[in-house]
Amino acid sequence: MEREKEQILYVVIPCYNEQEVLPETSKRLLEKMTSLIDRGMISGESKIMFVNDGSRDRTWEMIENLHDSNPIYLGVKLSRNRGHQNALLGGLMTAKEYADMVISMDADLQDDIDVVDQFVEKYYEGCEIVYGVRSARDTDTIFKKYTAEGFYKIINMMGGEVIPNHADYRLMSRRALEELENYKEVNLFLRGIVPMIGFKTDVVTYERQKRFAGESKYPLKKMLALAVDGITSLSIKPIRFIVFLGMFIFVCSIAMLIYSLVQHFLGNTSIGWTSLIVSIWAIGGLQLLAIGVIGEYIGKIYLETKERPKYIIERVLR
Ligand code: UDP
Ligand code: MG
Repeated sequence: MEREKEQILYVVIPCYNEQEVLPETSKRLLEKMTSLIDRGMISGESKIMFVNDGSRDRTWEMIENLHDSNPIYLGVKLSRNRGHQNALLGGLMTAKEYADMVISMDADLQDDIDVVDQFVEKYYEGCEIVYGVRSARDTDTIFKKYTAEGFYKIINMMGGEVIPNHADYRLMSRRALEELENYKEVNLFLRGIVPMIGFKTDVVTYERQKRFAGESKYPLKKMLALAVDGITSLSIKPIRFIVFLGMFIFVCSIAMLIYSLVQHFLGNTSIGWTSLIVSIWAIGGLQLLAIGVIGEYIGKIYLETKERPKYIIERVLR
């Protein structure tokens, strides 16, 4: 089903300590939006919305100045730092009140903004969600490349349905965002949730660039946390794996029992120091691991039952 042209596009950009990139990002985005508006692809009501995720530098001040200089720039200020996924969701949910389609992207423009045209075209062709997928990772460090690829493999092995090499650069229609709102979970992994929504979707590939200024706001610690969140919020396979492991160990222990009894009746009772020590360590380690994995899920349940707000919006500039 084709859609009517000139609908309202909002671009949502979470920003955490991005004072180095904001001037350039805002300039390039303005050019893009103006060109789209001039070509009659999007409505003149379209906006660029920056979400300040509790930055400690001049990011919010800069957003305020941008808004004063040109009303195409909007600002959403979260009450404190809540992390990329929450900031993004806060922006998406605010934007959906005004927009027909919303594109999310990072503040550092690593995602090629020329792809926006294709996103919008696919939207007019009737897609509710369009995923931006990286064709190459040449510009990432080798470490990031392999960890990221491993991460997508593990998640898919665990039964989560993520689009490989798709981060959070995507277009969503208002319809899709309304459905996204119904996913109430606190442990939010958007890349895993969005594909669950369904509808007509498509993929657009692009080359990912280097961050042109500032540093990555995703150090290894945050990356690992995102990976664990991603896996445990999409899949309960780790728990099931433990159950099978437990069964396997149980079978082994029965074998050991028979073996010890046989040895006992043969009179070789003083053997066994090695096997004793080995089994104490092996079983002890396994138990700790198992409890840890289960604990991870109980922790998640604990957080979910509290139903705390995922973000608090302090101010909206519009
Ligand atoms: N970001 C955020 N809150 C955070 C960390 C990051 O809003 O706590 C934003 C950041 O400003 C950027 C996006 O998330 O727009 C992606 O971060 P970054 O480019 O540093 O990650 P990388 O590209 O290195 O994975
Ligand atoms: Mg980046």
